Amino acid sequence: MKRKVLLIYTGGTIGMMQDAAGVLCPVNFKKLQLAVPELNRLPVQLSHVSFATPIDSSNMNPDVWVKLVKLIQINYASYDGFVVLHGSDTMAYTASALSFMIANCTKPIILTGSQLPIGVIRTDGKENLITAIEIAANYTAHNTAVVPEVCIYFEYTLLRGNRSIKYNAAHFDAFQSPNFPALATAGVNIEYNNLIINKTPKKATQFYTQLDSGVGVLHFFPGISKQIVLAILQSECTVVIMRTFGSGNAPNQKWLIDALQDACSSNKILINVTQCIEGAVEQGKYETSSAFARMGIISAADMTLETAITKSMFLLANYPFAKFKTLFVSNHCGEVST
Ligand code: ASP
Repeated sequence: MKRKVLLIYTGGTIGMMQDAAGVLCPVNFKKLQLAVPELNRLPVQLSHVSFATPIDSSNMNPDVWVKLVKLIQINYASYDGFVVLHGSDTMAYTASALSFMIANCTKPIILTGSQLPIGVIRTDGKENLITAIEIAANYTAHNTAVVPEVCIYFEYTLLRGNRSIKYNAAHFDAFQSPNFPALATAGVNIEYNNLIINKTPKKATQFYTQLDSGVGVLHFFPGISKQIVLAILQSECTVVIMRTFGSGNAPNQKWLIDALQDACSSNKILINVTQCIEGAVEQGKYETSSAFARMGIISAADMTLETAITKSMFLLANYPFAKFKTLFVSNHCGEVST
């Protein structure tokens, strides 16, 4: 039986071509299809749907995530798997957002793209596209998807979407999942590491189409001024994500501690995410973070920044405010080590 896969083309380098001035711009799906005739030879029943105007993923936003979720929702029963062609720049944000918005996922939703356009001879796009489709169509003998979750496939590696970051702007292996092993690696065979989250989901798949973007980021650096800190803490955001040093540390001058305390007391939610790529926040390990837990600042543990932002948007929009902290620290879909 041929599995049915829906290819959703949102844009990104994979489908870009150079204009007269040599600038890369998104093109329509037809041109992409012409460049990959192999698509017609795959042992899957492939359909496609394309954004009317493909976008550079730098223009991705919560409205587009909602549009994507609705698109997957209306096609969910009719397809065995989904491949989302997406620019690599914000792919980790989209993968994280979708992982929360499609709860109890039972089907593969594989995001992929490329560093070089598909029309370029040395493109990485063909392999990424073809293997992503193969993974999306891979089912067990018991009729369950081998990878029923939101993933990123790039350069021979399948990563959990909400554990991924784009870490390299120049190399084909552009993504990493520093705090969680790869779900699969593709060589002669695709080797799966048996790490999937949802082998036998107890609840039906649920699609969420609300996000609240009242989230800000406060990135600490030596010498950060009081004005910058206050501008962010006193802004409209309901959630402020602090990007801290090492295991969750920040300067502990009195003005800063007072400003953080005032923000917590005024019902803002503060979350501590480390600037380090690997490892986790441990509030209280050093004196410079010992006040944070007492103030009610939430540790994001080993979540990525992309996950902390999109999880906050998701929780703010879909759950009572009073439940935010409990839900934020708990594991929903493999995004945090427990
Ligand atoms: N700027 C492009 C995008 O994110 C880069 C890429 O696709 O890799 O859409």
